[in-house]
Amino acid sequence: MGELGIDVLLLSVGADLPYLTGYEAMPLERLTMLVLPRDDDAALVVPRLEAARVQERPEAFTVRPWEETDDPIGLVARLAGPAGTAAIGDQTWARFVLDLQAAMPTTRFRKASEVTGPLRIVKDAAEVAALRAAARAVDEIASAMRDRPFAGRTEAEIHRELVDRMLELGHERANFAIVASGANGASPHHEPGERTIAAGDVVLCDFGGTMRSYCSDITRMFVVGEPDSEVRDAYAVLVDAQEQAVRAATVGTPCEEVDATARRVIGDAGFGDRFIHRTGHGIGIEAHEDPYLVAGNALPLAPGHAFSIEPGIYLPDRFGLRLEDIVLATDEGPERLNEAPRDLAVVD
Ligand code: ZN
Ligand code: ZN
Ligand code: ZN
Repeated sequence: MGELGIDVLLLSVGADLPYLTGYEAMPLERLTMLVLPRDDDAALVVPRLEAARVQERPEAFTVRPWEETDDPIGLVARLAGPAGTAAIGDQTWARFVLDLQAAMPTTRFRKASEVTGPLRIVKDAAEVAALRAAARAVDEIASAMRDRPFAGRTEAEIHRELVDRMLELGHERANFAIVASGANGASPHHEPGERTIAAGDVVLCDFGGTMRSYCSDITRMFVVGEPDSEVRDAYAVLVDAQEQAVRAATVGTPCEEVDATARRVIGDAGFGDRFIHRTGHGIGIEAHEDPYLVAGNALPLAPGHAFSIEPGIYLPDRFGLRLEDIVLATDEGPERLNEAPRDLAVVD
């Protein structure tokens, strides 16, 4: 904050607050806000009825509950003092931002991610351990799905199975479980529905959740019965693209170069216009966070960066393919945190 000329950090809903305090703000009309001055003690302003859920850490912050008839905006403004520059959480609701700007008319507002981004992007040993544990849990699910029947079940049924399994294997919550069969797979974020999976269908399963506050995210591909050569050939291209992109993800390599590597392999095979999204996203306390592996992001990878590598090939009206692992950049080279088999699983 000193380097950036920021006098006070103001954090509400979003991942920065639990990252620093272990407490996640309720997304409520009642304001929760950590007021963290650069040179003074921090206070967590929280609605009285939520205070019992906060674990106070007096060495880090005190809890300042407010009653239903209090003015929490005024309280935050008082605690912030005569700050020249405040950095406010990127996901703070506009109603609170606008009220705070009115209550702190001489303060310049910037985004809290300027302060928290460089901290959160590098995972320490405990964070890596949590990401690894979450990855292991979804690996176990992805592996077990290879022995499960798909034909005759709906996408929604498989979706529920994935959600249940994530919770059984230690996730606090399931964040998503995309099941896209046949032509539905051509839409990368397809909402699982009542389509019944049938012989010959290619099925994309992309699922993840939160475990010990850190996220998992994996995509594996299944096919009901032996795939035809078109599916097999396209999938071989995808596996190659993903492998080469993982190998390219060394410390010092710009994020956009990892994206370009996957795109080159897919483009050379003639599917360039069918790879319709970036190659990957960072992952941590949020399922999608910095760094993004996308053209235009020249940020060099550093040890402790954790991100997905998930190229895809989407053929409208036919099928879609994606293969996704979480990868950690280390001084010893890129390390995949997911280890479930990556071949196209032939299922019943
Ligand atoms: Zn996605
Ligand atoms: Zn995913
Ligand atoms: Zn992902």
